[in-house]
Amino acid sequence: MTGGVVSSLGKGIISSSLACLLKARGYRVTIQKFDPYINIDPGTLNPYEHGECYVTEDGHEADLDLGHYERFTNVHTSRANNVTTGRIYQSVIDKERRGDYLGKTVQIVPHITDEIKRSVKLLGNTGKYDFVITEIGGTVGDIESLPFLESVRQLRWELGRNSLCVHLTYVPFINAAKELKTKPTQHSVKNLQELGIQPDVLVLRTEKDIPADMRRKIALFCNVSPDSVIQSIDVNSIYKVPLKMHEQHLDEIVLRKMDVAVEGEPDMGPWMKFIERLDSATESVDIALVGKYVELQDAYKSIAESLFHAATYANRRLNLTYVHSEKLTDADVEAKLGDKDGVIIAPGFGQRGIEGKFTALKWCREHDVPTFGICLGMQCMVIEFARNVLGLEGANSTEMDTKTPYNVIDLMEEQKSISNLGGTMRLGAYDCELRAGSRAAAAYGSTSIRERHRHRFEFNNDFRERFEAAGMACVGENPATKLVEVVEIPEKRWFIGTQYHPEYSSTVLSPNPIFESFVKAAVDYHEMKTSR
Ligand code: GLN
Repeated sequence: MTGGVVSSLGKGIISSSLACLLKARGYRVTIQKFDPYINIDPGTLNPYEHGECYVTEDGHEADLDLGHYERFTNVHTSRANNVTTGRIYQSVIDKERRGDYLGKTVQIVPHITDEIKRSVKLLGNTGKYDFVITEIGGTVGDIESLPFLESVRQLRWELGRNSLCVHLTYVPFINAAKELKTKPTQHSVKNLQELGIQPDVLVLRTEKDIPADMRRKIALFCNVSPDSVIQSIDVNSIYKVPLKMHEQHLDEIVLRKMDVAVEGEPDMGPWMKFIERLDSATESVDIALVGKYVELQDAYKSIAESLFHAATYANRRLNLTYVHSEKLTDADVEAKLGDKDGVIIAPGFGQRGIEGKFTALKWCREHDVPTFGICLGMQCMVIEFARNVLGLEGANSTEMDTKTPYNVIDLMEEQKSISNLGGTMRLGAYDCELRAGSRAAAAYGSTSIRERHRHRFEFNNDFRERFEAAGMACVGENPATKLVEVVEIPEKRWFIGTQYHPEYSSTVLSPNPIFESFVKAAVDYHEMKTSR
């Protein structure tokens, strides 16, 4: 899967949609992404750069597209599903230092391209998948993408009809001329052809319907069969894209071109039920998300999608408002949160915007609004409770104040000697035992769960008894380390904080239970308010 003309056309969504359809036909599918930047992984990137950092079960800090892959396919991704230029070079340079190249001059072709091809084939070679979709990040024509595209060219020779290239481009509508323009697509395909790659299928992102004769013209100019030019027109939910792709037979075209017999139809029944709920919901649920990266909504992508899944299953439209934690004060908290049915306190790092989170939490706790703290949001719940209920003045996380008299959140022991920032947090899925009878256990319908983590700091167990005695219960803990994973205030409507990130594991066909429970509490609260 390559992309042309401009970025942000939704290669990740098209890859995910194709995977979703193939999966619904009974095939085993996975999607991987190659990112052309030099960072080893996106873990150290500011969310303003590339949006949220997604975390896989095996603890890899990954591009947010992997979140889409999981949400559309229900298949877990791993470290092997996201590779950057940095990782490729690092591994080639490590081999060079070990002497593996036996004195040869190490070059982009063949050494870098061989390493890329090895990484492309890695997942296929496990024997676990029938199809591996490889998304090449960036846009054809970028300097950074060249080694990846050269590897694609070589792989096409090696794999023949066991491989296929889908190219996503853009057909802009020029409003002044009232015309759709195909030239950018022609140029981008030409670019790809100059690199020795002939796309098999073209997907054209567009805001207006592209007439059949225009598609034929594109097919003719781009050397693609006319039935393999597909449009991807804007829809009101990304989850409708698989249906749009199927209407135009993308899955069949791909199978046919790879000499796989096309039998029957994909089973999209459960997916269709989700879409029906989505379309039939009339009432909304109003949720506020308090965080500091609100200018870029991709920074909280997985949380927004998890809320959306939960709201849809609760037959509600999600009305999500982003509230800037840096700008939230005692003077306007009522105005900003007063009409909300539920409030999320977002994850994050560092001091900036933290006071706004405490302001929101105090208000929500005192007004008994359903409130959900995630990771830093959970830590803020603990700190706010320590300050305002336990009366521990100056209580804090040592992340924000190393000299706090009450370090209710502190650095994990194993983190104290770590100086490198990349890939060194507590990452990936860990077991958690929930207290029977807790609201969290009721939400999951189980006392043994497993969720993904991404943090360095933790609840300080020295304070545990004081919290329990004052009404904040530590209802989830790691069975091996006794680290506190979930806190809740049982006497409130719904006031839960999770040290883990449940948003990474919510998918369309398997929404995360704690988000469902939170949204249900928000819906109930809404009904109670409106029936008063
Ligand atoms: N900054 C906090 C920590 O490192 C929380 C991280 C997060 O919210 N993902 O523990």
